[in-house]
Amino acid sequence: MTKSGPKDPKSLRSRTRLVHAGRDPFEQHGFINTPIYRGSTVLAPTYASLFDHSLHFTYGTKGTPTTEALETAWTELAGAAGTVLAPSGLAAITLAVMAAVKAGDHILVTDSAYRPTRVFCDRYLKRMGVETSYFDPYLGGDVASLIRPNTTAIIVEAPGSQSFEIQDVPAIADVAHKRGVCVIMDNTWATPLFFPPHERGVDLAIEAGTKYLSGHSDLLLGLVSANQEWWPRLRETFDIFAMCAGPEDAFLALRGLRTMELRLKEAEKQALDMAHWFAARPEVKEVLHPALPTHRGHAIWKRDFSGSSGLFSIILQPAPEKAVAAMLDELELFGLGYSWGGFESLVIPFDCSPYRSATKWAPGGPALRFQIGLEDTEDLKADLDRGFATFRANRD
Ligand SMILES: *Cc1c(COP(=O)(O)O)cnc(C)c1O
Repeated sequence: MTKSGPKDPKSLRSRTRLVHAGRDPFEQHGFINTPIYRGSTVLAPTYASLFDHSLHFTYGTKGTPTTEALETAWTELAGAAGTVLAPSGLAAITLAVMAAVKAGDHILVTDSAYRPTRVFCDRYLKRMGVETSYFDPYLGGDVASLIRPNTTAIIVEAPGSQSFEIQDVPAIADVAHKRGVCVIMDNTWATPLFFPPHERGVDLAIEAGTKYLSGHSDLLLGLVSANQEWWPRLRETFDIFAMCAGPEDAFLALRGLRTMELRLKEAEKQALDMAHWFAARPEVKEVLHPALPTHRGHAIWKRDFSGSSGLFSIILQPAPEKAVAAMLDELELFGLGYSWGGFESLVIPFDCSPYRSATKWAPGGPALRFQIGLEDTEDLKADLDRGFATFRANRD
């Protein structure tokens, strides 16, 4: 007998499962981690084996033990039928949408969607003969009234990664499925640890692995998981495009996976601490964090999500741009940068108003998005205290 991993992983809690998912040490001489397989060509041992479907791996674009280990682990974590990898989160989004649409279709996209998702729909899909319309993220099941005979997909994202609207995903999935429409969700913020996408009715779930799965701002990766119904189509689309993730990135993502829940829970705690602190500041008009009871989507968040991550936004009291610029330049611990989910704190100013079409973005003051990292929050608050002093001094 060889000691292998847990026989019934489903009976285990997520932290335990993350430790074991997607690996079998005795398939790799007892070493704990799946090694980095680099390779294009895979040799067939005999002529007959070229044709009898007995080979597990056939060519680099179809997968390697390294990429398969990550796919298997993610499938288990997401409660999916299967997962494919992509070289970035955005590539995962485009792949998922390509799996679901064809020329002549119409799709519905939440107005709060990640902006490059909109660009893909408005420019590329339009050229391919697919029409996009945007809807108010708070529409919930009323999105049914926007479904046309040729609507084939609804793209949701909860919360919006800048503006933090929460969507009633089960209600949307319910009306979509009655009309045979595919539900695609960008689940990057919550990850399957805080929002089990397929259990909530999502057909194709996207994760930008660049964020919390990596956790260290050192790789780009995307994942798409599918339920039973959509898995064959997703896998076929992946094979057609061969948009492959690199082996080192898959390896680093597997390394990140083992500690993802610990990091995410810490990010949750830190971000909540900071969100409450911001809420008590006179310079802050509003905190956009779904775990705060003042948030418009709080009740749905509480019903459907089991946690919150380290990303949220604030709206400052009205002030000229120079006050915001002076404040952000003053900060020593918050980097000015896009992306999130890493170990370091970041802040970025944003304005959704130029590209919203179904809803109006008029928050009544400058908007800042914060990614809270793993620093001591007392140090972060001291840094922001200095920043707010500069903000006040430049306000009038
Ligand atoms: C970052 C991000 C993506 C894209 O991930 P990349 O790996 O940077 O392409 C997609 N969706 C959301 C919500 C994101 O924040």
